[in-house]
Amino acid sequence: MFDLKGKVALVTGGNGGIGLGMALGFARAGARVVVAARDAAKSAGAVEQLKALGSDAFALEVDVSDETSVQAMIDQAVQRCGQLDILVNNAGMNIRKPVEKLALMEWHSVLDVNLTSAFLCARAGYPHLKRPRDASAGGKIINIGSMTSLFGASFAPAYSASKGGIVQLTRSIASAWAVDNIQANAILPGWIDTELTRQARREVQGLNERVLARTPAGRWGRPHDLAGVAVFLASAASDFVTGTAIPVDGGYSIQA
Ligand code: NDP
Repeated sequence: MFDLKGKVALVTGGNGGIGLGMALGFARAGARVVVAARDAAKSAGAVEQLKALGSDAFALEVDVSDETSVQAMIDQAVQRCGQLDILVNNAGMNIRKPVEKLALMEWHSVLDVNLTSAFLCARAGYPHLKRPRDASAGGKIINIGSMTSLFGASFAPAYSASKGGIVQLTRSIASAWAVDNIQANAILPGWIDTELTRQARREVQGLNERVLARTPAGRWGRPHDLAGVAVFLASAASDFVTGTAIPVDGGYSIQA
């Protein structure tokens, strides 16, 4: 049911952090993984790790905020693999400033990388992900939201707006493309230890203590904590699951 053998999974931002955590899960489940990000050297390292698990993985360079670059990414992936079954919109960034200090350009760059990118990738991937109703598994889109899909963040207004938007985009895609046997779901990670949040810990005073105090599991998440839900949402096991937003947060969102 969770078998991904014969499937092709493209993960934006799959060269590190949460993206790589999910990509390794896909490789273990048998998928061929395409890692798409900007930093070619970092992507090469990720591909090595994926190949060590038996995945015929490769990397593509992309700027997910650029329409032409996204189209080229999808075209190249399909050209090389002959198919695309699973699209994970994971690439993301943050600029941590309160509203009154955030420049319009900064607002746009966060929205472009975190939200517009998911629209562009889904639109470009759609012709390849759609399949007949009676296919053995649907085409899968997994969008990465955040706890800020649920809560505001005084220090990250553009980021939280982008992640709130991810949930509504996911629902819209899910309802529009159900007829095409595409399931679209969001994962809402809690606080996961990655480069992104290491920087946040440096920039936001007291963040580490606040996260630990509020997370019932009593620890930061690790990238591989996302792999199980990602494999579920990528596999035939989730063929009747669509439009959801699943927290993977050690319980962060269940208490005030
Ligand atoms: P990282 O900074 O480790 O990873 C971000 C990834 O996005 C990198 O692989 C980076 O690769 C890629 N990326 C950034 N900008 C672009 C771009 N313009 N085009 C293509 N790729 C890009 O962060 P995380 O792993 O923590 O974050 C991954 C996702 O998870 C993000 O969407 C983030 O918002 C979300 N998230 C993270 C949480 C956490 O606690 N860590 C919590 C909730 C959500 P490269 O630089 O090579 O382009």
